Formats: sequence, C-alpha cells, structure tokens
Amino acid sequence: MKIFRASERDLRVERRDTFTGDVLLTAVVPTTDGVTVSDVVFTPGSRTYWHSHENGQLIIVTAGRGFLCAEGERPQVVTAGDVIWTPPGQRHWHGAAPDSCLIHTAISLGITTWGVPVTDTEYQPEAVEGAGHGR
Ligand code: MN
Repeated sequence: MKIFRASERDLRVERRDTFTGDVLLTAVVPTTDGVTVSDVVFTPGSRTYWHSHENGQLIIVTAGRGFLCAEGERPQVVTAGDVIWTPPGQRHWHGAAPDSCLIHTAISLGITTWGVPVTDTEYQPEAVEGAGHGR
C-alpha cells in the first residue's frame, strides 16, 4: 500500500499545448500501469483539444457546468455528479460552459492521443443550449 500525500502532489500545470483557454491540471497520483488520474479546472470557455484515450477514460464531474462531446455527436451538458465513460479510441473533447467553470477528475487509461483544437464553431454554445431539449 502507498499513500499519496496531498502535500507531495505535483504543482498545478497549465497545458497550453493541448487545451484552449486557461486550464489548471493537477496529477493526483503519478501515472502507474497506464492509469493517469488528474484533477482539471476549466475556466469559462476553456476546453481540451480533440483527443482520444487508448483504453478509455472515466470522468467524474465535481463542480460547475460544461460540455462533453464525442466525434459525430452534439456537445452534451454535464454538471456536478455526472460520470462519463468514453470508450477506447473514441475522439472527443471536454470543457467548461461559456459562463461557468468546470471541475472534473479524469481517470485516463493508456496513452492519450492529441489532435487539433476545438474550433469556436464546434464549441457552438447556442447548439449546446438546445441539445438537452426533447430528449
Ligand atoms: Mn478525454
């Protein structure tokens, strides 16, 4: 057994090469056996680039409001308490709403493959706002 002390955690790191906008990312534990656990704070409007996870990713939303979007689908609104599983290799992005921060814990399995930034057109706040209706 090993206890990872909060006081020994990596400092928050901004990842401007894979995120749009201001994002704070903390490694909760060192990557072990291909498992990466990160706390991510997205400021309003910020989001990841398009990417996929070799063996999938579990996201636990802990605060705020934001969007998850799988390739070929419309962005979906997520809020605190929502848990999202993205299967292996599925391209997607996640981020904050335009008017809210989003905080989530991400458990990423295997190698993350990064793509291009999510454009303002893809982010489409107006389309997102209507996505929850009629479901
Ligand atoms: Mn992801």
